Amino acid sequence: MTMTKVNRRTFIQATGVAAAAGVAGMPTVVLGASKKVVVVGGGPGGATCARYLKIFDPGIEVTLIEPNKHYHTCFMSNEVIGGKRSIEAIRHGYDGLKKAGINVVHDMVTAIDPAKKVVKTAGGQEFAYDRCVVAPGIDFKYETIEGYDEKATKEVPHAWKAGEQTMILRKQLEAMKDGGTVVICPPPNPFRCPPGPYERASLIANYLKKHKPKSKIIILDPKAKFSKQGLFKAAWKKFYGFGTDNAMIEWRGGDQDAGAVAVDVASKTVTTKFGDKVKADVLNVIPAQKAGKIAHAAGLTNDSGWCPVNLHTFESTIHKNIHVIGDASIAKGMPKSGYAANSEAKVCAASVAALLNGKEPPAPAYVNTCYSIAADDWGFSVAAVYKLAKDGSKIMKVGGGLTPADAPAEYYKREVFYAHSWYNNITRDIFGG
Ligand SMILES: Cc1cc2nc3c(=O)[nH]c(=O)nc-3n(C[C@H](O)[C@H](O)[C@H](O)COP(=O)(O)OP(=O)(O)OC[C@H]3O[C@@H](n4cnc5c(N)ncnc54)[C@H](O)[C@@H]3O)c2cc1C
Repeated sequence: MTMTKVNRRTFIQATGVAAAAGVAGMPTVVLGASKKVVVVGGGPGGATCARYLKIFDPGIEVTLIEPNKHYHTCFMSNEVIGGKRSIEAIRHGYDGLKKAGINVVHDMVTAIDPAKKVVKTAGGQEFAYDRCVVAPGIDFKYETIEGYDEKATKEVPHAWKAGEQTMILRKQLEAMKDGGTVVICPPPNPFRCPPGPYERASLIANYLKKHKPKSKIIILDPKAKFSKQGLFKAAWKKFYGFGTDNAMIEWRGGDQDAGAVAVDVASKTVTTKFGDKVKADVLNVIPAQKAGKIAHAAGLTNDSGWCPVNLHTFESTIHKNIHVIGDASIAKGMPKSGYAANSEAKVCAASVAALLNGKEPPAPAYVNTCYSIAADDWGFSVAAVYKLAKDGSKIMKVGGGLTPADAPAEYYKREVFYAHSWYNNITRDIFGG
């Protein structure tokens, strides 16, 4: 991890605060009191929150409801798509949570009644709560791209939720002829994992360069700029001929407004806002996004399609006693990332534990690091620690930095190592073990 604007000492001090968030001033256990928390969703947000609720106060009865028996992380799924990692290596179960005393229920939440404080599931179960934590991730605005819908994702994957979708894209790349064209259509802001589409292009190029070198990747972007753009473009130039006649990656964005407005699934042809038609052999369409379905059904979203929250406690500003964390929430100032979801979950767990024990929620601190891997030995990162603005209106960056553009090759190689070790650490923190 690299510090440019803030020195390493300041950063470590700040991350220390973040790690301790919720611990200082934490409540002691009140025996016998009813303290029921129902967590909806077992991703980085929900699973971390469930685990930390039990750590902060073992007396809380925690139920986590998640339909799937296994969770596939989106983080490192681009390595699966690029053939560098197996799908099993991004798969996690819930035994660690069960061992921690969490009641894990595999079912789909269909309704949350904020008046009766009850969560209802597709399987006909009902769970009463004192506080509910909702972490359902994202859903897609399919209607923004003509001709594209959930059914079409079997042929034209988004691969923006990991698992089956990841493997559809991987298999299509394996089946593609040398000399084929891969088209990636990133979404408009705001969306899950801002550097993700560009890391994906890099790791697909890394695979094609070795196995199908006559092939090409075209990125049709609705945005004028993207996350870590300078570092990605420099890596593309170094490894994939970016900017030359032989470029393996072509990025159409900027003022060309190349975003997809229509897709013909049968011919894998994209129509851009400007009316260009681009035909693909492998087509990856990542639609615009909104909070997961249950957040809408439970009336937790505003006009933006995301969930407004109190940034200190992550309690919904619409419904009392319901907290929303992770991608679905409007954590103003933080990106939608797995690490951010994990950090928000700890702040939320500390607040919920305090509130259930009649105490003030402790002062929050938040952290995020986002690694991107662009070639075998070439990675970079952006890291930040945050605190809450005095008026509570946003989460403010107080330290952090970006990998310097002029760092030596050894440095970029080390970032790949750090990325992999971050993965091992965070998945253990989320799912226990
Ligand atoms: C290609 C890619 C690469 C990425 N790389 C990184 C990275 O390097 N670093 C990083 O920090 N982040 C990365 N991310 C982002 C990260 O994956 C997300 O930000 C993170 O998954 C958000 O966590 P979450 O818990 O909010 O939502 P999710 O991970 O989507 O989890 C939500 C869970 O809720 C469940 N659920 C949904 N609805 C219901 C319901 N009604 N009832 C019960 N359960 C329900 C779902 O089944 C799911 O398990 C990447 C994303 C992508 C797509």
